[in-house]
Amino acid sequence: MQGQMMNQPLLISSQIRHAARYHADAEIVSVETAGGVHRTNWGEVERRARRLGSALQGLGLERSDRVATLAWNNHRHLEIYFGVSGAGMVCHTINPRLFPEQLVYIFNHAEDKVLFIEKTFLPLIEALQDKLPKLKHVYLLSGKDDEAAAKVPGLKFYEDLIEQGDEDFEWPEFDENTASSLCYTSGTTGNPKGALYSHRSTVLHSMAVALPDSLALTARDCLLPVVPMFHVNAWGIPYAAAMVGAKVVLPGPGLDGDSLKNLINGEKVTCAAGVPTLWQGLIGALKKAGEKVPTLTRTVIGGSACPPSMIATFRDDYGVDTLHAWGMTEMSPVGSVSTLLHKHMALSPEEQAAIRAKQGRPPFGVDLMIGDEEGNEKPMDGDTQGDLYAKGHWVISEYFNVDTPAPHKQGWFPTGDIATLDANGILTIKDRSKDVIKSGGEWISSVELENIAMGMDMVADAAVIAAKHAKWDERPLLIVVKAEGQDPSEQDVLAGFEGQVASWQVPDAVVFVDALPRNATGKVLKNKLRDEHENHLLD
Ligand code: ADP
Repeated sequence: MQGQMMNQPLLISSQIRHAARYHADAEIVSVETAGGVHRTNWGEVERRARRLGSALQGLGLERSDRVATLAWNNHRHLEIYFGVSGAGMVCHTINPRLFPEQLVYIFNHAEDKVLFIEKTFLPLIEALQDKLPKLKHVYLLSGKDDEAAAKVPGLKFYEDLIEQGDEDFEWPEFDENTASSLCYTSGTTGNPKGALYSHRSTVLHSMAVALPDSLALTARDCLLPVVPMFHVNAWGIPYAAAMVGAKVVLPGPGLDGDSLKNLINGEKVTCAAGVPTLWQGLIGALKKAGEKVPTLTRTVIGGSACPPSMIATFRDDYGVDTLHAWGMTEMSPVGSVSTLLHKHMALSPEEQAAIRAKQGRPPFGVDLMIGDEEGNEKPMDGDTQGDLYAKGHWVISEYFNVDTPAPHKQGWFPTGDIATLDANGILTIKDRSKDVIKSGGEWISSVELENIAMGMDMVADAAVIAAKHAKWDERPLLIVVKAEGQDPSEQDVLAGFEGQVASWQVPDAVVFVDALPRNATGKVLKNKLRDEHENHLLD
């Protein structure tokens, strides 16, 4: 016997329809690329998204055709998220910081037919257009602009397209497993790989993101997704925001500490999300100006390990709670968020902080497992390290349009991370498997050493790599960017590890550099650091 309940497909259009019906006047504040601030609301975003959906159909686009974006976080990008997917096409957000060859690969692999592009990124497309035979329409994200039109033959304008669209367009209904959006991994080696999300996976992910033990999103929130909309759909926050009817602030291109500080205080932001490096800028700007962020209750930090010292600064100096989250493109991206359990409430503040600094627990809908290389489970004892595997409603079953079989082991997706899980599923990421340091028979966690280095006042930025060693095969080498106005010696920095880790885990040496190399999503390029410094201990 089946249940007798309505069966409605989980579609992205239902999220924006909900936002427009019940939260039409909730504000969307958008910093424009050309300067200035645009104010709109969920009602208007939905009307323009409907116009866009109908206009795309008018161009002859069909279900599942790919529509690309090269854009900052702003209101037009938000309309595109809902208009493209809502009308049944696939919204393909592209990271503009990728190398030109990777961009060409991604455009052609995805077979994008339409591109929505910000003026800032026009030079990219000017240079590449001849190599993109499948691309039929390029729209500048603005009204008519003669200067831009002169540069890119056939360039059209987004506002004209919206004008042509039908505001009474009805969102089509279709199978919830239909593809909705596409993101490529940044691919430090080999070609980038596509994760093709579905309407169902996106809606379920939004619900999990909004849960109280995740980001606790509500209609009383003002959300600032600093994480770019071209980076795993800004961690799914735009969809979840529509679902809960939150006010949203979209920061445009200016992600420096001062701009963020002014936006947070000017718009009364309650929750802001982004990668760790970004928050260093905000904390620096707050310190300099002697300002606080009174409305900000929480920052969501993920993408790389968040140093415990950053969590402590937010908490102790600014009264801001940090939600440390772990995830990846292949997981939409949220896999875990760090919050406490009831039994932790009796612990000391220090013990609680140590738990909060871990990567957290999976929400309902994701399963995590520590296993061996074949995918056989190892104990969840908080101590046994192994390969981290994931499974769930918003984890990929395979990569988009590749010949190679899915990498899964016994039905689990191998994340490429080395981690531990305790009996409550609290995750501690030790390393990317390719970054772990194998010293003699022992493994040393680069993340742990980096966290300690980042907690030293004399250090602005730090990375630990495996350097070749005559006796131990590999030993940890610390690469450091000195804090402004400080000039520590190697011994000063190494002394900072005393008592924090076992003596055999302390890095063998320190190399000082001006800046760490980072990839398009802000992660440290450890392979580049290894190429440059792996022989340091042999010399
Ligand atoms: P994203 O685009 O969300 O950053 P990527 O797919 O580019 O995801 O990278 C995912 C990887 O980033 C993870 O497998 C993990 O190694 C690293 N990562 C993400 N969040 C964290 C975190 N909180 N702590 C440690 N590593 C993290």
